[in-house]
Amino acid sequence: MAQQKPHMNLVTIGHVDHGKSTLVGRLLFEHGEIPAHIIEEFKKQAEEKGKATFEFAWVMDRFKEERERGVTIDLAHRKFETDKYYFTLIDAPGHRDFVKNMITGTSQADAAMLVVSARDGDGVMAQTREHAFLSRTLGVQQLIVLINKMDATQPPFSQERYEAVKKDVEKLLASIGYKNVPIIPISGYKGDNILKKSENLKWFNGPTLIQALDELKTPEKPTSKPLRIPVQDVYSITGIGTVPVGRVETGVVKVGDKVIFLPADKQGEVKTIEMHHENMPTAEPGDNIGFNVRGIAKNDIKRGDVCGPVTSPPTVAKSFTAQIVVLNHPSVIAPGYKPVFHVHTTQIACRFDEIVKTLNPKDGTTLKEKPDFIKTGDIAIVKIVPDRPFVIEKVSEFSQLGRFAIRDMGQTVAAGQCIDIETK
Ligand code: GDP
Repeated sequence: MAQQKPHMNLVTIGHVDHGKSTLVGRLLFEHGEIPAHIIEEFKKQAEEKGKATFEFAWVMDRFKEERERGVTIDLAHRKFETDKYYFTLIDAPGHRDFVKNMITGTSQADAAMLVVSARDGDGVMAQTREHAFLSRTLGVQQLIVLINKMDATQPPFSQERYEAVKKDVEKLLASIGYKNVPIIPISGYKGDNILKKSENLKWFNGPTLIQALDELKTPEKPTSKPLRIPVQDVYSITGIGTVPVGRVETGVVKVGDKVIFLPADKQGEVKTIEMHHENMPTAEPGDNIGFNVRGIAKNDIKRGDVCGPVTSPPTVAKSFTAQIVVLNHPSVIAPGYKPVFHVHTTQIACRFDEIVKTLNPKDGTTLKEKPDFIKTGDIAIVKIVPDRPFVIEKVSEFSQLGRFAIRDMGQTVAAGQCIDIETK
């Protein structure tokens, strides 16, 4: 795979049974990097089961089973290439996992494919709305909508049915603020409009899925923002000195830069920067680096501190306002509730100080001011007070440092983003 092509993380979202895994299977099996031995294995199984031909549908069922067992086709193989990009398909079997992955940044999606079945009785449904809204909330910048199962409309490949579903999709997109979204009729099952223009869909003069993927914008590296490196770990290396380790989220760090670590409030000068055991003069967003800082001892800083320029230091919050989605809470959340927030490399106990209002998940408008409590499924604006001041940023300024997951009793109960900060 050509490494020089820009990389994009792509997530598939949409209502259950609208055809997400079938589509993923089609992309991976036809254009991707599924190792030959796995395809061979599936063929062998097909023969043993008495399937005369190597049917795509049958393969897809196996693929789904494998996927559900979480084996064989790991992330390393969920790749495919277009002319412009190479894509990694992020799995989102359930929306809890999707949210958790998005928040923890392990697989922040650059774009989403929203699958909407056009079969009679399907169309825009509860999870279609929910996933689209969540994607927006979680910062997925670009969207492609696929009107799927066009082979199963009445009559098959009905333009009229496509137009009807498209109208509902457009209403939804307008209400949550996605613009310039391609809405493509496809059949993931039969392969129409995936790679080649479908003979069955001649009335559609927009792009195929692969063309639309190529037309996505290259995600910008936030190099012009101030530097932010959340500290993962701190080492003391003989002959070098104190070496914090972390991923550059925004900005650029250069040898000679004067930096500050907050909330530790320690300053120093960057002497060396190293990545993959090689010294480098600068590092930029996405780089995982170790960097020696003169003037700082190992015990001065720790995991969860954030490094930034002395001239534009990270924000230390005494309290903050957040928009959250309650994903999975056994009872209700009321003011006073104190779970653990996972923000960049920090884990910190925080108290719900006030529930300002709940929002309509369909369009983000206000549902109720100052409710007594919130529960699973609710989206709310809340005021949060951490146990001690820590670094968090507004999602509008540093999206990478403004998102968090809320965990309690070993589970992710909610997820959200910081929309305002009080520093005093
Ligand atoms: P998911 O729950 O969104 O991942 O949906 P699946 O990919 O598991 O598909 C659900 C059902 O719809 C399966 O029985 C698929 O075979 C069927 N399906 C998926 N895509 C298509 C399609 O393009 N046309 C038709 N006719 N059926 C499809």
